[in-house]
Amino acid sequence: MAALALVACTALLAPGSGALGSEARHAARPVDASSLKPAIVWKRIPFGTKRKRQMAAYSKRHYGERTWELTDPHVVVEHYTDGPSFSSAWNTFAANSLHLGEMPGVCSHFIVDTDGTIYQLVNMGIRCRHAIGMNWTAIGIEMVGTSDGQILNRRPQLRAALALTLWLLAKFGIEVRNVIGHAETLMSPYHRELYPSWQCLTHSDWQHADMRIFRRKLKRMATQAGVPIGPRPQWVDSNC
Ligand SMILES: [Zn+2]
Repeated sequence: MAALALVACTALLAPGSGALGSEARHAARPVDASSLKPAIVWKRIPFGTKRKRQMAAYSKRHYGERTWELTDPHVVVEHYTDGPSFSSAWNTFAANSLHLGEMPGVCSHFIVDTDGTIYQLVNMGIRCRHAIGMNWTAIGIEMVGTSDGQILNRRPQLRAALALTLWLLAKFGIEVRNVIGHAETLMSPYHRELYPSWQCLTHSDWQHADMRIFRRKLKRMATQAGVPIGPRPQWVDSNC
């Protein structure tokens, strides 16, 4: 985890400072991630010992390590709920019911409502089951809605989702290229899945073309805030 992102700051150098040593020329100004934290409303779903044990067993089956803990996340996966309301999504995640024949139930760390309210459901130190192949290293953000296009045109919600994602970038040192749509998971270099029959499973929320728009906006915000954006994407061929 990187609590502070570093950005090269030539502005710190005084005019005519060319005679300074290389150490001074590479002076870096830390971006305080906490200054980018948006307003977040906690609305916890139950995630007690039993669900954690189920998540650890899921991790063992699908990623090869028995743990429910999410440490050093590298990826943010963007979703939409494909449902009518925040409460219907929250109820689905709280229910902890069987999904694809397995426990625990599906889950998301955050839900962004249509009016831009950001709800947090789960501590970010917990693995949440929101995207096959990614849960070992990915934070999940759900947006209430039924299509990418709808959310791209819903300003308060889009702005909130971008602000939340930007904060996560700064907080964990995540690169913009690893902010992906659920529909892009199979192209991610971080995709891992031990079940052969699950290796090509993904969803249709947040398609590549729409995520390019999302990432472009995010990149602009990151640049303005002094948050490092990282290198260009390197997608992988999933052979699916
Ligand atoms: Zn999804």
